Amino acid sequence: MMLQARETRVARQEALLKECSCLICFTMNIAGPYKISDCIEKAYSEGVSKILLMLQQYGIEGIKTEQYIEKTGVESYIALQRNPLEIKRLMVQIEDNFELGRLFDIDVIKPDGEKVSRADIGMDGRSCMICGSDGSGCARSRRHSVEELQQNFIARICNYFNNQYADRLAQSAVKALMYEVSVTPKPGLVDRENNGSHKDMDFYTFINSSAALYDYFKKCALKAVELSDKTPQHIFNNLRYLGLEAENKMYQYTCGINTHKGAIFSFGLIVAAAAYLAENGKKATADNIMKICSQMAQLSLADFEDKNAHKSFGKQLFEQQKIKGIRGQAAAGYPAVKPAFELLKECLNKGDGVDTAGAKTLCLLMSQLEDTNVIKRSDTDTLKKVQQKTAQILESDNFAEEFAALNDEFVKLNISHGGCADLLAICFLLYFICEE
Ligand SMILES: [Zn+2]
Repeated sequence: MMLQARETRVARQEALLKECSCLICFTMNIAGPYKISDCIEKAYSEGVSKILLMLQQYGIEGIKTEQYIEKTGVESYIALQRNPLEIKRLMVQIEDNFELGRLFDIDVIKPDGEKVSRADIGMDGRSCMICGSDGSGCARSRRHSVEELQQNFIARICNYFNNQYADRLAQSAVKALMYEVSVTPKPGLVDRENNGSHKDMDFYTFINSSAALYDYFKKCALKAVELSDKTPQHIFNNLRYLGLEAENKMYQYTCGINTHKGAIFSFGLIVAAAAYLAENGKKATADNIMKICSQMAQLSLADFEDKNAHKSFGKQLFEQQKIKGIRGQAAAGYPAVKPAFELLKECLNKGDGVDTAGAKTLCLLMSQLEDTNVIKRSDTDTLKKVQQKTAQILESDNFAEEFAALNDEFVKLNISHGGCADLLAICFLLYFICEE
């Protein structure tokens, strides 16, 4: 079958070479016999798009493109009216510098049917994909077994796509934090106009902290992929340490101010849940993500029952009034996020600006959530009054003005809805993960 495939390939090339002065032939550099898998096909598509993008960036148009995805392998041809040496120089850049490039064979064929070699453009041959020494030497002496080569090949592809998704999740997370702090007005909270009830932090404190957390979000996603065959609770136990690391980093970047402790907790869960779902072949919808978060966060509630655990404000509040704060929200699958996320989606989809959509969502959260940050700086009566007031404003025809005017009142009361702000950030994060 492989011999037959080789003959077919030569015939295809000969036919195409009659029509052009330069032929790109792209195949995957896989040792031994192999079956086409999803993973190989995905890597192959990535290769095709990198080649097309490179040609496009140099203003080079193909006169004909052919693609074959068959049992014996994947291959694609691009026929060009160009100097083969010029094209080889471009293709070598992909082979040498794109992360999956070592797995690609991008041959450039001259009209006489000969390949342009690396030596033709003054370059050394390729190094071995396993040990890094001279590649043709390893191939000639069969230094690495076919199994070893194939394992390495698959591992590289998996790493590449996992990393790519983890990067996307981390980008969404940082973006969500920046959107949240940027939404203006946010009465009592830091926004682009003022610092609300806060004297120790401003807009830039939040930017510093958001940028510092990129790494943490990516690690959470990769940890969930690594442990994707384990239970969500098992993953949660392994996220705790990453969370502590992230808190330390946040304090370093903000000179000791707590900007994102709540977000570190919730975003860690959400990013990990999304990666966990994807790795298990399930769709990362908001509902699915919340379900996994709830399973993960059961363990965090157990701390409340532990009489020897550190007495945080959250724990005291739980003992006195059974208010569970962000951990309770997480363990219940973020019930307060659900209506808020729906409202944010509705506003953005109907064309509201980010400020308007964000402010309305925040107002809804303020009217519904038992925000422990508010209780901490005042009392439960104040919280109840503020809940009623924001519920009225949400329905008002004069929403924008009335909501903005709350700032003076909240500053006088010295209250700040930090918990609501965290949930608003969660709504943005879900929007970026599930809707973009
Ligand atoms: Zn080698």
